[in-house]
Amino acid sequence: MMRIGLGCDLHRLVEGRPFILAGVRLPSAKGEMGHSDGDVLAHAVIDALLGAAALGDIGEFFPPDDPEWKDADSMKLLRQSWAKVKAAGWRLVNLDCCVICEVPKVLPHREVIRASLAAALEADPQKVFVKAKTGEGLGPIGEGLAVEAEAVCLLEKTNQTYE
Ligand code: MG
Repeated sequence: MMRIGLGCDLHRLVEGRPFILAGVRLPSAKGEMGHSDGDVLAHAVIDALLGAAALGDIGEFFPPDDPEWKDADSMKLLRQSWAKVKAAGWRLVNLDCCVICEVPKVLPHREVIRASLAAALEADPQKVFVKAKTGEGLGPIGEGLAVEAEAVCLLEKTNQTYE
């Protein structure tokens, strides 16, 4: 059995915060506002994985009003989410992502971002891809006020479950 999962997220960009994508810090004057570290890409990927496995969503597992997740490393949340998905017997076929922001340029950092996601998911980097778009100057993303991430994953059920 195969299942598709979709995740999306958006964070405000503010001065004085680091700009983090999948645990990779990009040089930028502004970064994601958030209760956790604001890693918009990690959050979208978590929701894609949890959605494909019909296990829940990021807000249920890591509530934004819970002090435990204040300034949390979102890649840790991703690894925990993947462990739940894997324990339910799923393996990753592939993950495809899109990051939409005006600045900074994401493309020069694509390979390190892919590698970071692949490591968290214990997958070959060839199964993970990341693309970057701009908002063409339109709306909050185009005005540099926000960054958005979208992720789609395909999972395949194996016979193995453990817990
Ligand atoms: Mg988020």
